[in-house]
Amino acid sequence: FLTLGIESSCDETSAAVIKDGKEVLSNIVASQIDWHRKFGGVVPEIASRKHVELINPVIQEALEEAGVSYSDLNLVAVTYGPGLVGGLLVGIAGAKAIAYAHELPLVAVNHIEGHIYSNFISHPELEPPLVCLTVSGGHTDLLYFEELGEYEILGRTKDDAAGEAFDKVARVMEIGYPGGPAIDKLAKTGDLEAIELPRPLIYDDNYDFSFSGLKTAVLNYINQKQQKGEDIPKADLAASFQQAVVDVLTSKVVKAVKAKEIGQVLLSGGVSANSHLRSVLAAELKQLGVKLYYPQPKLCTDNAAMIATAGYFKWKLKQQIAPYALNADPGLRLG
Ligand code: ATP
Ligand code: MG
Ligand code: FE
Repeated sequence: FLTLGIESSCDETSAAVIKDGKEVLSNIVASQIDWHRKFGGVVPEIASRKHVELINPVIQEALEEAGVSYSDLNLVAVTYGPGLVGGLLVGIAGAKAIAYAHELPLVAVNHIEGHIYSNFISHPELEPPLVCLTVSGGHTDLLYFEELGEYEILGRTKDDAAGEAFDKVARVMEIGYPGGPAIDKLAKTGDLEAIELPRPLIYDDNYDFSFSGLKTAVLNYINQKQQKGEDIPKADLAASFQQAVVDVLTSKVVKAVKAKEIGQVLLSGGVSANSHLRSVLAAELKQLGVKLYYPQPKLCTDNAAMIATAGYFKWKLKQQIAPYALNADPGLRLG
């Protein structure tokens, strides 16, 4: 059973062919990072235009690499939100055209659900009940699911997403774009206790997050240093900031695991590629006899393989077919 997945919600144009919801036959990701870097963030208008240019060649390449043609496909899955409306519309138009022309069922996938399902490619043996932390460029959601597709939102960020905080802090530190990988790398040479930073909401009796105050604390620290004419210890700052984020994320996950008496935790989204988050969280959970799962690196950030897999499960479990009138839903939320 072959699913073609299409993803275009942000600045990656991606197409993938997945066999039986778990075997990646191809996963082509055309990143637009080079076009957005000089602006320090994704420019929606540029993203839309690049998606238009890239979508057909990327789909073509995905089919070629998988060694299949349109007539071999059984399902088309496409991201319909959340994300940038211009980009979403490009992917949706492409998916509809293929579904219509080749008489294939079309499934509409929530991008965040896609991030979660990336774990099922890396670990097909996974079964609920699970606690899942999604940490990406636009989201920080702690979820509990008793059954596949049935989510309970335990908590989410009240302001910035974790990935957004990484990106903004890296920007003011001028250490590279995107910020997450840059901080991850630089932090390895820094002292994570060097600079005292807040851990917002860490002791609050809920599963919510807040990262904007932490980001402001880093900004204030940099401003003070600059006013005094002192150098900024960038590696120490990266390590201290990363530690603060990891502390908060870890404490809330541990709290959820205890409350739900769960034996397995999933990480998903771009920040799940963070090496420190992975090792600290895995160690903390191991003490509780809980296993941590995360996707392989290429499946952490945006890609169409995760969309194809999420679409496959939606189709298989619920036969959820999207109409040809399917529209983009830029503000789509889980649950
Ligand atoms: P969303 O999925 O919420 O719509 P998005 O698609 O832009 O947002 P992702 O592609 O899931 O986000 O992830 C990108 C984010 O992941 C960026 O903020 C990036 O800095 C962050 N990121 C990537 N690698 C790492 C890393 N090693 N450490 C920390 N953050 C990382
Ligand atoms: Mg991206
Ligand atoms: Fe994403």
